[in-house]
Amino acid sequence: MERITDYKVIVIGSGPAGCTAAIYLSRANLTPMVLEGLQPGGQLTITTDVENYPGFPDGILGPKLMDLFRQQAERFGAVFRMEQVENVNLRTHPFVITTDQREYETYAVIIAAGASAMQLGLPSEKALQGFGVSYCATCDGFFFKGKEIVVVGGGDSAMEEATFLTKFASKVTVVHRREELRASKIMQERAFGNSKIQFVFDSTVEEVIGTKEGGVTSLRIRNLKTNRIADMYAQGLFVAIGHIPNTAPYAGQLELDERGYIMLPHPHSTATNIQGVFACGDVVDHVYRQAVTAAGTGCMAALDCERWLTHERITERWDLPKGEEERV
Ligand code: NAP
Repeated sequence: MERITDYKVIVIGSGPAGCTAAIYLSRANLTPMVLEGLQPGGQLTITTDVENYPGFPDGILGPKLMDLFRQQAERFGAVFRMEQVENVNLRTHPFVITTDQREYETYAVIIAAGASAMQLGLPSEKALQGFGVSYCATCDGFFFKGKEIVVVGGGDSAMEEATFLTKFASKVTVVHRREELRASKIMQERAFGNSKIQFVFDSTVEEVIGTKEGGVTSLRIRNLKTNRIADMYAQGLFVAIGHIPNTAPYAGQLELDERGYIMLPHPHSTATNIQGVFACGDVVDHVYRQAVTAAGTGCMAALDCERWLTHERITERWDLPKGEEERV
């Protein structure tokens, strides 16, 4: 396998955090390589309109926003490659990153690999993603003004999303696969006390019915106790069954919390427990998970990384990576 050595910094992930890190690093003349992963642009590329990203008073399509992020980083020399990280060795320095195509040696790494919203796994859910099926109430709730919507899940996220969505929707039905919620008591009570929220227990969504043009029109619901299937009127579906941070390659090397998020041991810093490795965006954040907060921490990681490279005097002895002279 081809090995490219002497990268100063490699950014893993190309969502708002990774791209913002790349903008700052490239403007500091560090010529970062961005390994984009299987979903270039990250989670925003599976939403439609983004209306809460500052600077776009008329809103902007998620894929378009990420295209602009990328163009801005490329303008200053960042290089993007559609490669998926399969393995990392952070025990050696320079670090070694193995993708599905090459091996890289790099002095610093910024991990901005994001998190993936868990999906129900239905073909119809995938087909209507961004057309009535959503994984983020904060992002998309506004588009469901006066509509009847369903939230799937029984945890804190589902309760929070359902409660938030009552600001817009005329009715919110929570569909949960058991008869007991997993959510904390306080979140349950808030949802139970909201007259716009109804609950359907012991049930799962079997199929999402609708079209890309007309959006979601109904859901096919199976009652797991009676096995009976019935159609439920719904104009939108919010899936809130959890997120998984994309941190599998780092387990055993970086400190992860019990849910798999990368832990940052120092307050006000994106440095991880390994010197030269920084993390930002949704791999460290299960609380805010917004494009703008991810972008903010991407900026922090770039600044932290730049200072570390300078402090370690790596910046001074750097030249273009061997074999990359013609490519960059
Ligand atoms: P979670 O606690 O893991 O709950 C996921 C829910 O989705 C569970 O009720 C689960 O059902 C259901 N589920 C999972 N897979 C499913 C599937 N394939 N089909 C249907 N239902 C499925 O996840 P979360 O709600 O995202 O919360 C994650 C963590 O963040 C928790 O620690 C939570 O407390 C925290 N959080 C806190 C707040 C807050 O305090 N404001 C807000 C959001 C999240 P079962 O119950 O049957 O397993």
